[in-house]
Amino acid sequence: MNVGQSRWFASCAVAAILVAGYSTSALAQTRLANSPLAKTKSVTDTKIIHASHPALVASVLRLHAGSAAWRQAVEDLAATGRRALLVTPDQVRVADAPGAPARPFDDGVLAEVQPIPGENDTVDLVVVVINVELLEVLHARNGRMFDLDADLDRILAHEVYGHAMPYLLAGHLSGRCADPAPGQRATDACAIQRENEVRMELGLGRRDDYGLNGLALARRHHHRD
Ligand SMILES: [Zn+2]
Repeated sequence: MNVGQSRWFASCAVAAILVAGYSTSALAQTRLANSPLAKTKSVTDTKIIHASHPALVASVLRLHAGSAAWRQAVEDLAATGRRALLVTPDQVRVADAPGAPARPFDDGVLAEVQPIPGENDTVDLVVVVINVELLEVLHARNGRMFDLDADLDRILAHEVYGHAMPYLLAGHLSGRCADPAPGQRATDACAIQRENEVRMELGLGRRDDYGLNGLALARRHHHRD
């Protein structure tokens, strides 16, 4: 179940997420409303963040209610028509290279962010995969179910506010907000700084390392961005 760092980097470089059988390029040209993922619904009336899993919907609502920074980003995106799609592993397939056979999402990975590039590397859609089931299993094993909601909020603060929204706000791959580079202090990294902005507003504690102690559950599972 544990995902080693080297494997993480190796797969991260070439992985593409296929949503409900669409290739990423086809998806970019496919209106969301026409895709099988139309079953996901806009979580708020802003039509920016879409999800169907109840735990993800609930987390987005908590973040929206508790974080002015989050709400501001959503408001800034409202006129753009750009979207973040929050899905669970069962809703996506992964290809390790363009044209490679699709495989199921790696069940040892907790979360992954995949911008869907269009022409000239524009980004109108970012897919965020959150492995809710794995999170639940890990919390149950550690007898910490009471921390589940807060950890989910921390994960979304990082993946959605830290990684997905900067792509969407820029509307381009150049909007990438990175995790710490080797040797860089975690608190100097773009994604951690944004995550902490939201954490502060929600009283979720400040993340000061890029290890796995940032969650109530001291997880050994890496995410990808
Ligand atoms: Zn990250």
